[in-house]
Amino acid sequence: MNNGIVYLVGAGPGDPTLITLRGVECLKRADVVVYDYLANEQLLSHAPDAAERIYAGKIGGRHNQCQDEINNLLVAKAAAGKVVVRLKGGDPFVFGRGGEECEALRGAGITFEVVPGVTAAVGASAYSGIPLTHRDITASVAFVTGHEGEKNESNIDWDRLSLGGGTVVFYMGVSTLRRNMQRLIEHGRSNATPVALVRWATTDCQQVLVGTLADIADRAEECGFKPPAITIVGEVVALREKLQWFEKRPLCGKKVVVTRAAEQAGEFTTKLALRGATVLECPTIRLVDPESWQLLDLAIRELPDYDWLVLTSVNAVRYFFQRLDTLGLDARALAGCRICAVGPKTAAEVRSFGIKPELVPTDYKAEGVVDEFSRLDMHGSRILFPRADKARDVIPRELKRMGAHVDSPVVYRNIFPEKLPPETLFALEKRSVDCITFTSSSTVQNLATMMGEEMMLDMLKGVVVASIGPITSKSCRDLGLKVDVEPQSYTMDALVEALEAHFA
Ligand code: SAH
Repeated sequence: MNNGIVYLVGAGPGDPTLITLRGVECLKRADVVVYDYLANEQLLSHAPDAAERIYAGKIGGRHNQCQDEINNLLVAKAAAGKVVVRLKGGDPFVFGRGGEECEALRGAGITFEVVPGVTAAVGASAYSGIPLTHRDITASVAFVTGHEGEKNESNIDWDRLSLGGGTVVFYMGVSTLRRNMQRLIEHGRSNATPVALVRWATTDCQQVLVGTLADIADRAEECGFKPPAITIVGEVVALREKLQWFEKRPLCGKKVVVTRAAEQAGEFTTKLALRGATVLECPTIRLVDPESWQLLDLAIRELPDYDWLVLTSVNAVRYFFQRLDTLGLDARALAGCRICAVGPKTAAEVRSFGIKPELVPTDYKAEGVVDEFSRLDMHGSRILFPRADKARDVIPRELKRMGAHVDSPVVYRNIFPEKLPPETLFALEKRSVDCITFTSSSTVQNLATMMGEEMMLDMLKGVVVASIGPITSKSCRDLGLKVDVEPQSYTMDALVEALEAHFA
């Protein structure tokens, strides 16, 4: 039996989080993804690595793959038993030729399903703060293709569109803007009617231009406004002044480079993105296993003899518990041992393994941890401090000075990634980066090594340098960087807040 099927999936208007759950499910099952120009390429990451990815804008070296070729491709892949996702910008059935593709599939006896998407008009409306309908203003909205404006014989009922005050939304209407605006005026719409152009709606590059039927074409020409854009015509456009929110997010339009390890950057990146920043990831660290587990394994075998286990980072917690697991042990191995977790994130990670840490120092610097221990009688106690290979040795040194026996086996190593991501380098070269964040000394030191100190200093001229705390800031200064932002407490949340305050 042939299991081949084609899912026509709406990718949404641009922001990659605006695809439906159903759409993501289909992508996860795809053997082949055929995507077009307006579908955000980031969505392809939902598809299995092994899935074939075909850009339907360029097959055969030509930019505009003709529709027949796409239809034939979909039929051929599905007939060969593949699960095919045809990923289309916005909604497949709104000016997306999805109807034609379905007809071709039906004609060839291929099973298909259609997954709706947020169409560009709806995305542009939400993200520009322009409701398409409003009880006090208008009760109807029309979606119209702007291309028709080129023809003299038009299928569009311009009279109906122009009269009655309904909102009119044009797709594909940038090159024909002047003609379409004129037509609305000619057919009776007031030339003072407000108009908004929304380009690359819902994305970091969203641009909104507001005018009236009379002057929007001139304004667009003046600033060289380019497609793709949605044109919204109607009194509702005036609501934008009150309702716009997208541009008001505290870090909107800011390009921020995050230098954390790829494995750790996710949460921080999400926080920045939620505040409107465009985040460029630039991992300067990769976390890997220790060269040998011998010392750690030895300590784990002697866990019942330790009085304290000191964990100073989420990574240390994860690697430590991973190793326990590999050795066939679990949290019970720590029954006799008190636990010090440095910082709220580390403490939360420890709790996620069902363990309540006894000590959570409020000052996250090594000195703060030492200070907490200095209030206890540490003499003769045995301490296990699984650490990163490049960790500072303040904690073991000072604890030893208090008379404790400290073992500090390496639980993970920080190594260099092979190279910096090209998009980040490109943005730095173009001087389009607003801010760079360093969340540990090694992030800044590694960047300097990877780029070369001189090149780094040059590339970061005029870029706001944000450091998580005094130790990292010192490492920045040692390399000749001026630190512009440093939060009061040394957490990611505090760093995000400090950035917000800086750019306010
Ligand atoms: N099926 C798509 C529309 C495809 S037609 C949908 O439902 O959205 C292509 C037109 O859609 C473009 O010319 C532009 O007018 C509009 N469009 C698509 N994505 C857009 C975006 N992010 N911002 C503004 N307009 C967009």
